[in-house]
Amino acid sequence: MEGQDEQVYEPLKLEIAANSKAYREMELFKTEVLATMSHELRSPLAAIKGYAATLLRHEQRISRAERHEFLLAINEASDRLEIIINRLLEVAQLETGAIEIEYVPLNLAFLVREAVFAAEERLVKHQREQDMKSDQVRHFTFTVQIEDEQGRQTSEEPVIQADRIRLREVLDNLLENAINYSPAGGAIEVVMRPISRSQREGSYHQEDAPIRFALHQQVQEITVRDRGTGIPTEQLRAIFTRFHRVDTRLTRESNGPGLGLAICKHIIELHNGIIWAESEPGQGSTFHIWLPLEQMKG
Ligand code: ADP
Repeated sequence: MEGQDEQVYEPLKLEIAANSKAYREMELFKTEVLATMSHELRSPLAAIKGYAATLLRHEQRISRAERHEFLLAINEASDRLEIIINRLLEVAQLETGAIEIEYVPLNLAFLVREAVFAAEERLVKHQREQDMKSDQVRHFTFTVQIEDEQGRQTSEEPVIQADRIRLREVLDNLLENAINYSPAGGAIEVVMRPISRSQREGSYHQEDAPIRFALHQQVQEITVRDRGTGIPTEQLRAIFTRFHRVDTRLTRESNGPGLGLAICKHIIELHNGIIWAESEPGQGSTFHIWLPLEQMKG
């Protein structure tokens, strides 16, 4: 009898445990949002309200140049607010499992080139909008390279099963960070290459990886490398947790609420992949992504 009860109740118990874990996660998320986000949300809102009120009150007395400056500030603060709100919604959706991954075979090199091109365009647009003087403009050189297992350059473009929109979002985030955290500009390189089985086995990330690749699976690496500020070694893992930001003048100035990399990690793990960072502080950072070329059924 007892055995039977166990059988009946076991799935129920598991479900309750899972639900209460999800519930606790959600409660924690809400607390964190309230603790960290109220300031992040209030400060751009205060800027928008302040500048808009001044424009309205002193409409006749404000010079054209000043008006332009105020409008730029309003524009920037509303962009910031939009980023924060969108990211918050996305993290909440990812953490509650509300986002489904739609796998399609896609040309990875094509996707990377598209993302790099879009990042360059955004940078130019931003610098133009800010009316930057030539000594304020940061110069970047972007390169995209495809390599074979031995690290030799090849023109063979990798095809991977992935969700186009989500993977593009990861690339956009990594490129955006590479730009934001490179105060002096510099080279940004994206390299794609297959990872051989021996490279996988020799890598310490194997023990680390929450999801392991099956032996027969082919794995593709994407690295995004910059020559920016770099990341302190003890924070290389923490940067992937939500709301974590390395506290520097640059991060305080940047638009991010510390959610971009948490979103990237979620998306890559939904693809059964892994993401991690390496860095030499002061020299730059390299973000690595390993993704299975094909997804296993079931
Ligand atoms: P944010 O939205 O603040 O940029 P992210 O989750 O994208 O948040 O990144 C978390 C933190 O990791 C950033 O605040 C920054 O301190 C650090 N970081 C991310 N990418 C880089 C990079 N390429 N170089 C230096 N620091 C970085």
